[in-house]
Parts: sequence; C-alpha cells; structure tokens
Amino acid sequence: MKLLNFIDGQFVEPAEGKYLDNINPSTGAVYGQIPDSTAKDVEAAVKAANIAFESWSETTRNQRSALMMKIAEIIESRLEEFAAAESRDQGKPISLARTVDIPRAIYNFRFFANSILNQTQTHSELDGVAYSYVLKEPVGVAALISPWNLPLYLLTWKIAPCIAFGCTCVCKPSEFTSVTAYLLCKVFQQAGLPNGVVNMIFGTGASAGSPLINHDDVPLLSFTGGTVTGELIYKAAAAKNKKVSLELGGKNANIIFADCNFEEALSTSIRSSFSNQGEICLCGSRIFVQEEIYDKFVKEFTKKADELVVGDPADPATNMGPVVSQQHLEKILYYIDIAKQEGAKILAGGARITSENLKAGYFVRPTVIANVHPTESRCQKEEIFGPVVTITPFKTEEEVIKYANSTQYGLSASVWTENGRKANRVARKLKVGTVWVNTWMTRDLNMPFGGVKNSGLGREGKDDSAHFFCEDKTICIKH
Ligand code: NAD
Repeated sequence: MKLLNFIDGQFVEPAEGKYLDNINPSTGAVYGQIPDSTAKDVEAAVKAANIAFESWSETTRNQRSALMMKIAEIIESRLEEFAAAESRDQGKPISLARTVDIPRAIYNFRFFANSILNQTQTHSELDGVAYSYVLKEPVGVAALISPWNLPLYLLTWKIAPCIAFGCTCVCKPSEFTSVTAYLLCKVFQQAGLPNGVVNMIFGTGASAGSPLINHDDVPLLSFTGGTVTGELIYKAAAAKNKKVSLELGGKNANIIFADCNFEEALSTSIRSSFSNQGEICLCGSRIFVQEEIYDKFVKEFTKKADELVVGDPADPATNMGPVVSQQHLEKILYYIDIAKQEGAKILAGGARITSENLKAGYFVRPTVIANVHPTESRCQKEEIFGPVVTITPFKTEEEVIKYANSTQYGLSASVWTENGRKANRVARKLKVGTVWVNTWMTRDLNMPFGGVKNSGLGREGKDDSAHFFCEDKTICIKH
C-alpha cells in the first residue's frame, strides 16, 4: 500500500517524490510506502488550512457537529477495516483495535460533536455600568502531532476538538504508524468535510514535523509523544509565542495495598502492565505491593504474565503482538539488560521470542522484574514503554507515596484499596495528572487529562480542549 499526503481535500504525492518503507512489525517485512514529506509539503498544507480557516471558523456549531457525526458513522461502518489496518500497522492485537482503539476514535468525534452544542458563554453584569460577555473564537491553524502507540485513537483525540471548535489543522502522524490516518482522510472526503479543514502530512519528525511546528502561520501546537521531542516542541512554541499542549511520557505507579480486592487488582494489573504490549503512556510500569500480600501477588501475577498469548496480532486469541519497531525492540532489551546488570531478578519473560514463526517480528515475552532499587534503578526512573514491569514491596502509606513520587514523570497512578479514606488520602498526595482508584484507564472525556513534571503541559478534555483551540475574547458593553 502506497500512501499519499492529503492536502486541500486531495491525495497528492510528496513534493520531492521521496517515500519511506512501512514495515510490518510482526514480520519485519516492508509492506508499503509512506511519503517522506518535507517543508514544501508542509507549506502547501498550511496554506490550504489557512484558506479553509476563513470559512470553517464561520460555520455554525450545528453544521460542524452534523459533519462530525457523519465522520463517526462512516468509521463505524468500516470498523473492521480500520481495526485490521491498525493491528497490522502497529502490532496491537486485533481484539484491542476492535474494542478500544477504533471505537474510541469514533467516540472522540461523537463526544465533541455533542459537547460543542452544549457550550455556554460566560457573562457578567457590572451593576449600572456595563455588561460583559466572553466570546470563544477559534485560534487558527493547528499542528497536530501524534505518536505510534494508539495511532488513530490519539490523532482523533486532537482532530475532533480542533475542528469542533472551528480551527483547521495540519496533522503529522508517527512515521511508524500512518495507515489508519490515511484511511481517515478517505472518510473525510466521503463525509464531505470541506477541503483544507484537515490536512495530513506523512513522514519523519525531522523532515516533516519540524517545519510544521516552526511555521509562522501555525499558532497552535498540540503534541503527544516522548518527553525529549516535547522539549523541542516547547522551544519552538516559545520562540514564536505559540499556544502549546504537550502530552508526554509516563512511568506510572500501580499501588496495591494489602486490603485491596485481590482478584480485581491482579487482573487489572495484568491489563495495565501488558495491554498494547505495554506501549500505552498510562501503563502502570512500576508495581508496588504491600508486603503482607507481596509474595502471593508476585506468584499469581507472574503466572498470569507467563500465560499471556504472544503472537500474530491478527489472531483474535492473541493477548500481545510485537512491539512497534526493531529500534523499539532494541530499547526494551537494553533496559532488561540494565536490570540484570543492576542485580535484578527476572521473574517472567526477559527476552525476545525466537521461535521459528515469530523470530522475524519484534516479539518480546511479558517481562516481570523484581529486586530493583525502589527509586534509584534506571528501570524505575526511565520510561521503557514496552511489556516490562518492575514489582517492589512496600510497608507503609508514607513509604509508597515517596516511591511513587520519586520519578521525573507525573502522568497517572492507580491505587488499590477497599479503604475509601486511605484511597483519597493517597490520591491527593500523588504528583500526577490522573489517579485511578480501584481501576485503570477508565476515561471520562469530560474530565481534564494531562500530566505534571516531565509528563506534559496543559490538559485535554471537554473544557480544556475548548481553552486550547479557542481564545476567549471579553466584550464589554457600556449601559
Ligand atoms: P516521539 O516523540 O518520538 O514522536 C512523536 C511524534 O513526534 C511523531 O509523529 C514524530 O514523528 C514527531 N516528531 C519527532 N521529532 C519531531 C520534531 N523535531 N518536530 C516535530 N515533530 C517531531 O514519540 P513516540 O516514540 O512516537 O511515542 C512514544 C512516546 O509518546 C512515549 O514517551 C509515550 O509515553 C508518549 N505518549 C504520551 C501520551 C500522553 O497522553 N501523555 C500518549 C501516548 C504516548
């Protein structure tokens, strides 16, 4: 499959005619080409988005909402095609793409299509003097840059609010996972989205992403990806006073108290550790278990990790597919080696799968590491972003809060206990953007989402996305 850029409603070759290989992570084989876009493509896309902004920003909420509902409907009618493409391109099990990634992408459009209809304005009366109200005005052209782990889910989490609030955009999906973004452009055409409202540029961060974030006519940068890239984006934004939203890495704590519902904590911890091969920024990669139940938890958790089916992501029985790329596989194995050098114990997994049918792909066994220093080990401090968790005992509430807060990241945490007051106490002390109590990754899109410390800047969600994509203008009218 050869992808094309989508500019001003048309599918076009990259200006310099260059392409990158698209690799199937299950086989290591090239199965398509994606445009290796450059500043010239960015220029054309930004121009189209700017022209489209003039009329799109004048459309009514009802018009935008109806179009977005249509987009959601078309994706839904092609769910199976999208799920199969996402699974093949990224490596995630088809069952996950079918039940999480694609339904959530559909919901992103429906959610913002509904929420803009209910948007109200702030107003105020200065007694006897003046009446003021706030007008929410769309900012302009947004650069929407997304990573490879939840390709369509995270890209649509940006596109949906962007177009709902009347902005237009140039998107740059990850060069590792471009296929569903390309299919989405076909949906935009079919739904009748006006030309230039959403433009899609494929290619690398250096060649396509960088000219986009630095472009003078792009006042908004919404980025999800790694912390190091996030810093570059932040610098580019600062140099030109652009609005910026950064959703970055995580090293999330999964805190399991002895008074938890053991079975629930156990089964959800398996999901929060290994879903999507551990390639979710919210995965609970640092598990802390209170010492009274530590041995029992470790035994049962390790057993369940060993039982996970790793294999062909297209098989509905598969629990874990390959990791996304050769480069990422090497990074994961590098951290497992570091753990070994630090004297850790590998309780499960710990290696690439070399069986005849899987050896060409990037498959790693679910890996459980114990006996690491709770705060100083590199495997506790640095984001591995793969099917690798550490598991560490703790004694008291104070101790585990200290452990949990010891990293430079602050995206999310889970707390497992049946004691409500304790859950609330611990949740309030954790330095993160989201705390889940007795659950994981339960997302209410009305709520703010984002990280603190090196996990990001700003929030996404119903009102937060409105703040980002709109400027508030106060209009004060004298009596
Ligand atoms: P990455 O930072 O390498 O790439 C993300 C995107 O940025 C890609 O599209 C890439 O091409 C682009 N990019 C790279 N360099 C650029 C540059 N100089 N200018 C403009 N764009 C550039 O991240 P990744 O490896 O694709 O994704 C994994 C990371 O994303 C992990 O750290 C993970 O935690 C994080 N993540 C965070 C969230 C969240 O919501 N906080 C969600 C998912 C993933």
